[in-house]
Amino acid sequence: MNRRTFLSSSSLALAGYAIGGCATVTQGGSSRGPIATPGRSPARSVQLAQVRVSFDRIIRTTVGLRPHRDSGFVLRAEKLDAKTLIHNYGYAGTGMSLAWGAGVLVSEFAQASGERRVAVIGCGSPGLCAARQLQRRGFDVTIYAATVPPDTTSNMSLAGFTPTTALVSNDRRTPAWDAQFLRAAELSYRQLQLMVGQNYGVYWMDSYNATDDPNQQGRGGPGGPSGDSGQGGRGGGGGRGGNAEAGGATDADLLPPELRPNRNREVLGPGEHPFPTKYAIRTPALAIEPNIYMDALVRDFLLFGGKIVIRKFDTPRDLMTLGEPIVVNSTGLGSFTLFDDKELVPIKGQLTALVSQPEVNYRANGRAPDGGNASMNARSDGIIIGNLQDRGNWSLEPDQEVLRRNVQAAIDFFALVRPPAPGARLTRSAPPSTIPSVDTFFDAQS
Ligand SMILES: Cc1cc2nc3c(=O)[nH]c(=O)nc-3n(C[C@H](O)[C@H](O)[C@H](O)COP(=O)(O)OP(=O)(O)OC[C@H]3O[C@@H](n4cnc5c(N)ncnc54)[C@H](O)[C@@H]3O)c2cc1C
Repeated sequence: MNRRTFLSSSSLALAGYAIGGCATVTQGGSSRGPIATPGRSPARSVQLAQVRVSFDRIIRTTVGLRPHRDSGFVLRAEKLDAKTLIHNYGYAGTGMSLAWGAGVLVSEFAQASGERRVAVIGCGSPGLCAARQLQRRGFDVTIYAATVPPDTTSNMSLAGFTPTTALVSNDRRTPAWDAQFLRAAELSYRQLQLMVGQNYGVYWMDSYNATDDPNQQGRGGPGGPSGDSGQGGRGGGGGRGGNAEAGGATDADLLPPELRPNRNREVLGPGEHPFPTKYAIRTPALAIEPNIYMDALVRDFLLFGGKIVIRKFDTPRDLMTLGEPIVVNSTGLGSFTLFDDKELVPIKGQLTALVSQPEVNYRANGRAPDGGNASMNARSDGIIIGNLQDRGNWSLEPDQEVLRRNVQAAIDFFALVRPPAPGARLTRSAPPSTIPSVDTFFDAQS
């Protein structure tokens, strides 16, 4: 196979799901708060709070480097002299999604060693979730990390439940890796469902994909069709260009049939939605507020007796100075140097945050009239615009041209989105009445 094909999948088919309460909207589009009537509005009355996009509303632009390996994440145990070294890194665009499940697999390796004291190296989502899973199983855990939240890649993520984004090249998968991936995805999804609420900043949120093609496949999740794939790196011409540059394209055929998504997708027809396209595909998405979530993980880890030590390691030999007999390597891109893993390659991501709008509680993406990709994710710390997948780019500096392109596309797109009717109830996101199966998310992009 010449081209790289990432593990991903396509079709999401029609299905309804319930959605919760409404709010009354003023003429200016602001919410007066929830009213008591539960239940989804009929599709024809979808009313969405207006997103206000302009350059003067920008409050920050963040950059993160996704730790990608063409052959996928590394989850295995080996010996480092007398110590057990458990690798747990390389999650690319899925580190917020797969970490809880990966943590279970890490714990199983640790349990097999017979020891009880563990050093977890790295305080991103994979490190913290592994640490929590180990604590739940009675291990005494210390995290050693060069940086802690908010200064981790995990804090720079979008972030949603996107278990396949830029994760692996299909031609590099093995049955053993697939088995680990599936377990990690299933376990993580179950765990994240239990964390929904303000404590952890995990929510169910509607994602709208504005399109003229009602059969458009996949890309319904956070970031949507434009979230990653269209803003692609240098010279990426939109569409799938960015994703291809990042090293992947979707290929549903490479997923086993039982894993092809086929539900929890609702096509809204002309007149049923406010977008400047014939159709809008609405999908329930699991959304994570990375800054709330990461702080909550740290808090839980400390509450359960964990210790955090700020320390950087330069070589594997440095790890031998640790007292713990088990070492978990959750250093992400740090393994490029620390463990000389030259298969690791960064996939640069970039998000621009606008002044937050609490009344906006959905995600949307579509095409601006000039073909640019517009994507919007509502979070309490800002309206998040755009994304990027730029493979091989190690720069942590915001790319000003990407910033300008993303924001301009969002300005042009949202100018064409119909505002809610005066006095109309806003359609609000709420947990789906039937929780989507994990495979529904396999084409979500982050
Ligand atoms: C723009 C963007 C959007 C994203 N969206 C999503 C999404 O929607 N869903 C999703 O699942 N994922 C998403 N991701 C991917 C996710 O953020 C990453 O997969 C995840 O953050 C990787 O975690 P990590 O632990 O490998 O890295 P980090 O979070 O950076 O953690 C690495 C830790 O290791 C420490 N470390 C590294 N080297 C050393 C060393 N030598 N010594 C000591 N400590 C060391 C660091 O200090 C840090 O504490 C997104 C990423 C980006 C950039």
